[in-house]
Amino acid sequence: MAEKTVVQASNFVRNIIQEDLAQGKNQGLVATRFPPEPNGYLHIGHATSICLNFGLAADFSGTCTLRFDDTNPEKESDEYIQSIKRDVEWLGFEWHGEERYASSYFDTLHGFAVELIEKGLAYVCDLSPEQAREYRGSLTEPGKNSPYRERSVADSLDLFARMTAGEFADGAKVLRAKIDMTSPNMNLRDPIIYRIRHIHHHQTGDKWCVYPMYDFCHGLSDAIEGVTHSICTLEFEDHRPLYDWFIANVSAPSTPRQYEFARLELNYTVTSKRKLKQLVDSAAVTGWDDPRMPTISGMRRRGYTPAALRNFCADTPVARSKGITDVSRLESAVRDDLDSKAPRAMCVLDPIKVTITNWSADDVKTLVVPVHPKDETMGTRELTWTREVYIDRADFAMQAPRKWKRLAPQQSARLRGGYVVTCNQVITDADGKVLELLCTYDENTLGKKPEDYKVNGVVHWVSASHNLPVEVRVYDRLFNDENPDGNKERDFTECLNPESLQVISQAYAELGLASGTVGQQYQFEREGYFCIDTDSTADKMVINRTVTLRDSWGK
Ligand code: ATP
Ligand code: MG
Repeated sequence: MAEKTVVQASNFVRNIIQEDLAQGKNQGLVATRFPPEPNGYLHIGHATSICLNFGLAADFSGTCTLRFDDTNPEKESDEYIQSIKRDVEWLGFEWHGEERYASSYFDTLHGFAVELIEKGLAYVCDLSPEQAREYRGSLTEPGKNSPYRERSVADSLDLFARMTAGEFADGAKVLRAKIDMTSPNMNLRDPIIYRIRHIHHHQTGDKWCVYPMYDFCHGLSDAIEGVTHSICTLEFEDHRPLYDWFIANVSAPSTPRQYEFARLELNYTVTSKRKLKQLVDSAAVTGWDDPRMPTISGMRRRGYTPAALRNFCADTPVARSKGITDVSRLESAVRDDLDSKAPRAMCVLDPIKVTITNWSADDVKTLVVPVHPKDETMGTRELTWTREVYIDRADFAMQAPRKWKRLAPQQSARLRGGYVVTCNQVITDADGKVLELLCTYDENTLGKKPEDYKVNGVVHWVSASHNLPVEVRVYDRLFNDENPDGNKERDFTECLNPESLQVISQAYAELGLASGTVGQQYQFEREGYFCIDTDSTADKMVINRTVTLRDSWGK
């Protein structure tokens, strides 16, 4: 409970909403929105924004819309739209009504632009992009008025209509707001509100060849939707005066307010769609849903759960100050969630054969063990005990270190869920590599301790004759530098971890896995959490390692 209080206290947006409600603002309504640009797949940073916006709406019995801010058709696609909808739903949120598109407001927005021209608050400008840059000034120098700034309302109306009708080439003219070329806030130096782009739009087709700029479109779309609290990340703080200016100067149907919070930054991770796209386009990863990607679709494929992501977001403070979150917090949220939910299974990743010399070759015994050691309701599963089994190479040592709890020559260990075995003989090749262990089992040790000797070790195992061969993909962090973006001299791709993917083409899982379907999660005992990958075929099951059992990075 103590933790919950901390989370709430640090959520300044929640406090603002509470005050607004106390003062009776917005007729007591709370309306938020999640407004992605459909120019890539969503990542873990977006998950925090989704949880915040949908979470606040739910907590205050309000609404949250999903709105695609689709003002840049050349970078957008339906594939991205579909992936975003899938990801928001998978996270467990339901948007209010149908999904929205800023592009469906283009008529209204165009009308607002005309309204600004009529009020003498916008003008068509013919400066080239280079000239406009010169006129704009810099952080230390004021800008200069464009020579087209005093163009008559009638001329601007006429030119804007002709821009809209397709009479001019891309970039030939723009519509600009008439605010203040000397403002210390560069965003207010007569920003562009409409530009010419003769390009097909995924929603509006060829209807438009002028498109609104993001700042103009975004705030006014909020106003059209009746958003009360428009939450965005800190880089938009300096845009807020412009956000307010547009709403104040057109006949906007409502007056939303913008609040900014610090974007989520995770160490060992990049969270920028542009950079993630670069990884996809350069084939550094297999796609947006590569299980190493910090995208929601990558994390889903890897076996992360919606609850784990929601818990991680809930425990990440919503703050105005920037900070870097430790990615191991995300990983431990995944472990915490899977521990109680994932059925247990055994899988040997790096096998050595063990022959149980006092067990007959034609004797195949079924052992019944719990699916989950702490949850009886999950039932039981069957293991097959045979003369030949596999254990993991790491569970045997020629020379056992002190306190060794696994197998070694003349030492005993329990094969989990089965009998205690003692290693009597080790067969090696000419280089000393262990090929096989010859062991005996103790028939009085099934489900009970041996009477006259002590056994500390328990190792996992799988029958060598009755198993399911699987491919296992073991992932490590995609970047091996804590701050892949942190060095200006170096491209972030130079920090890619060359060992982020290890493919074990043949591992051996207990037979029960054969009935598992794509997405099924398991805890492979003593190994970690795993899930069945979408690349699985009828011939070969492919399994992803979701996360190790403990935080072992760098250890
Ligand atoms: P990127 O820089 O990755 O392209 P973006 O901000 O351009 O991100 P949008 O599609 O515009 O991506 O984002 C949709 C919403 O998600 C916005 O409200 C944005 O503020 C929020 N968001 C994006 N990245 C993060 C992040 N790292 N942490 C928190 N919120 C984020
Ligand atoms: Mg953006």
